[in-house]
This record gives sequence, C-alpha cells and structure tokens, in this order.
Amino acid sequence: MKIVIAGAGAMGGRFGYMLQKSGQEVILVDSWQKNVDTINKNGLIVEQKGKKECVPFTAYHSKNIKELEVADTIILFVKAMQLPEMLADLQSIIGENTRVICLLNGLGHTETIKKYVPYKNIFIAVTMWGAKLVEAGHVLLSGKGSIELQNIEPSREEFAHQLVDIFNKADLKARYSSDVLVSIWKKACVNGVLNAICALLDCNLSQFAQIPSNHDFVAKVVAEFAAVAKSIDNVELDQEKIISFIESCYAPDKLGEHYPSMHQDLVTNHRLTEIDYINGYVARKGSEQGIPVPYCELITLLVHGKEKVLGIV
Ligand code: NAD
Repeated sequence: MKIVIAGAGAMGGRFGYMLQKSGQEVILVDSWQKNVDTINKNGLIVEQKGKKECVPFTAYHSKNIKELEVADTIILFVKAMQLPEMLADLQSIIGENTRVICLLNGLGHTETIKKYVPYKNIFIAVTMWGAKLVEAGHVLLSGKGSIELQNIEPSREEFAHQLVDIFNKADLKARYSSDVLVSIWKKACVNGVLNAICALLDCNLSQFAQIPSNHDFVAKVVAEFAAVAKSIDNVELDQEKIISFIESCYAPDKLGEHYPSMHQDLVTNHRLTEIDYINGYVARKGSEQGIPVPYCELITLLVHGKEKVLGIV
C-alpha cells in the first residue's frame, strides 16, 4: 500500500513512523523545505521514552511531486490553514481511487477537501494520539492514543474498515465509528474552550482553573458549540459531560501542567493558529444561522489580534 502523508510535522511524523514500521510503503510530503531536506539527509529522528531513533524516509516538497505515482491512500496532517494549498499541490497523485483521510483537528475540513477529492474517497477521522515537533526532522512521541474513522459516503463503509485495519496493524488503535462527527465536535469543543484561553492568558490548565468564574466561561463556550453543532450537523453534544471532562483535566496529576497546542503555536513558536477552524468556525456558522455566539466571536478576534501584535501576520 502506497501511503502518502501530507504534512510531515509532529503528527505526520508519528503516523509515518508507525505505519512504515508495520510494513507500509510511506512517503512524506511537506511544504517546509528545511524539514524535507533534513529528513532526506539524516532520516526522521523519532524520540520517545528518552531514546532517539533515526528512521530513513523519502520526503518530497509538496511543490515538487511530479515523479510520484498516484497514491493509494493520503493522510492529511497539515495545519488547517495549509490544507487548500496542500490539496492543490497533491492533484497529480490523487487518482480515481485514492482514499484521502482527514485527521486534522477542527471543523469544516470536508468543505475544503471535496473541492479537490471525489466525495466518495473522503474519510474523516479524529485522533487522541499526540506528538510534538522538536525541530525540522525531529519528532517527540509521548503517551497513548486512538483513532475513530468513518466514510462520508454511506456506500464506502467497507473501505473505512480496510483503513481501520491498516491503522491497527500499525498499533494505532483505530476503530470504525458510525458517528465520528460527534467525536470531532467533542474534541473541537474541548479545544475551543481550553486552547485559545490558555494561549491568550499564557497559562496552563491548572492556572486557568484558578481564575474566578472559569466554570461560567467554560459553560458559555460549550453552549455555543452545542447550539451550532445541533443546527448545522444535527450533532447532540452532552454539555454537562463535556464540562465535567474539561474540569477533570485541571488536576496537576492529570493535564494541569499541560499547555495546549495553540499556546505552543502562538506563544512559544509565534506561528499562525488554527483558531478559524475551531472557535472561528463556530462564530462564522453561528452568525450565518442566527445563533448568538459572542464568546466564540470575541475569542477569535482576540487570537487574531495577538497574531497581529506578535507580527505573525
Ligand atoms: P505541525 O506544526 O507539527 O506540522 C504541520 C505542518 O507545519 C507541517 O507541514 C510542518 O512541516 C509545518 N511546520 C511546522 N513547523 C514549521 C516551521 N517552523 N516552519 C515552517 N513550517 C513548519 O502540526 P501537527 O501538530 O502535526 O498538527 C497537524 C494537524 O493535526 C493539526 O490540525 C493539529 O491540530 C492536529 N493534531 C495535532 C496533535 C498533536 O499532538 N500535535 C494531535 C491531534 C491532532
């Protein structure tokens, strides 16, 4: 099976490493020249449990994939704002039967992908695996995870099961889901509450928990996500359960010391955030649907403001 991973950052590196180890033919495609060159020259450095492994890979710059054959499967692991350009670059390797799996965080990616990929070949997924990009060509893997995956077109369930099997052979703990949108919304909602606020306040989860009326803030943002999820995707989010889950993460022995990924992007690395695909998506869709979404609108405005103040845009 020829698998192309589009986006060879933290997660693309993790999935590429695990899939290649399980016997798949994996090619990495990325738009960051330094990353491509480092991987081709030195291999991908995969660090976990204090050990470093140097793993040979073939990597291509996304603007330079002419010699690549049509892929059997493409796994998308770019940041959300890189998605349209990456899909445009991949056109020559997207064939009639190329299955494209979206594993990005956030919402609304199918709307983008279907402009470049036959609808029947799109599979949507959500993952609880994690990874960090230390520098070009070097990923840090930690913890355990899982994947939920589903076909979009009802007739394609058999293919979704095949993809689940491929992930499971790589020990990626995948399962077929008959309602993956619910899990995608749940994850986006948790990210929508914690990611931006910790990035804006430059704090970790337990510091956020010490702020008076944090419960009220969490409940308000969750309610906005729930209203929009119901309206546009007919997804019922269990708000109480999501709030309890978020609040269970604050303890120092859970994720209390953790700085969410948007904090790493904005504060640590001064990179663009995925805010337009999390709170920004809810703000946009809410206003289209006539649903009040003041918290998501303000959060999106403030994150874009911070990107500007930091000179990222
Ligand atoms: P990443 O930032 O590590 O890599 C994404 C892309 O950004 C890659 O193409 C990479 O080459 C490029 N990039 C990274 N640093 C760069 C730099 N300094 N200069 C130029 N280009 C650079 O992103 P990721 O963490 O792998 O996330 C990919 C998707 O997966 C996102 O939608 C993310 O939200 C989601 N996700 C991430 C995690 C995680 O733990 N990292 C977990 C679940 C889902």
